[in-house]
Amino acid sequence: MLTALFGGTFDPIHYGHLRPALALAEEVGLSSISLLPNRTPPHKPQPEATTEQRLAMLKLAISNYSLFSIDTRELEPKLINQPSFTIDTLKAWRKQNGPQSGLAFIMGQDSLLSLPTWKEWQKLVDYCHLLICKRPGYAKTSCDCNLQAWIKQHQTKDSQALHHCPNGYIYFANTPLETISATEIRQNINSRQSCEKLLPPKVWRYIHEHGLYNLKKC
Ligand code: ATP
Repeated sequence: MLTALFGGTFDPIHYGHLRPALALAEEVGLSSISLLPNRTPPHKPQPEATTEQRLAMLKLAISNYSLFSIDTRELEPKLINQPSFTIDTLKAWRKQNGPQSGLAFIMGQDSLLSLPTWKEWQKLVDYCHLLICKRPGYAKTSCDCNLQAWIKQHQTKDSQALHHCPNGYIYFANTPLETISATEIRQNINSRQSCEKLLPPKVWRYIHEHGLYNLKKC
């Protein structure tokens, strides 16, 4: 059983999250994926939608998929104004689930390139495998020598290896390229362009009904 956490701001959740995650589950054989929204992202500005609104959109987005669930530990009210660091979440997960449970953490190529700015980033693989989804517009390799060496040390091309130990590998998945970002969606809505095709219909409807992202008339 290999379960995965998929961290993000999800402001809002879109097909660039969902489609690669679904393909990845198939490719690697994930038993479940827990979406892990954060309250206060450490590396980007505060989300535009409230925590409750982002959570509501996540619930709508996954309502038709048994693969997905939501892990709300990074939304705890005590984390207001306090960034949630992935390494701390992974440590907490391990404490709850023990050292033998297989755990993966999903991220896009852009997040991988930014890893050297993450707290204790080199220790991430002590707690999970990292599954990297392709993301258009981001370099395939990093010019950060430490990151490159660390990837080389932990990379596997064998998806089965991910099932043989509970953590420790980095795997680059052959997921579909989706040219979608939450930033683009917020900007499109703000400039009254439709982005109906970029996210699930229920999420699009929610954005409309709640007037999110300065939606006036679309
Ligand atoms: P923003 O544009 O606001 O920065 P985002 O679209 O990148 O947001 P996040 O919620 O910050 O979305 O992303 C959560 C995770 O999903 C990150 O690991 C990111 O790399 C990944 N991700 C987001 N969009 C895509 C995409 N189109 N393809 C692959 N991975 C993606």
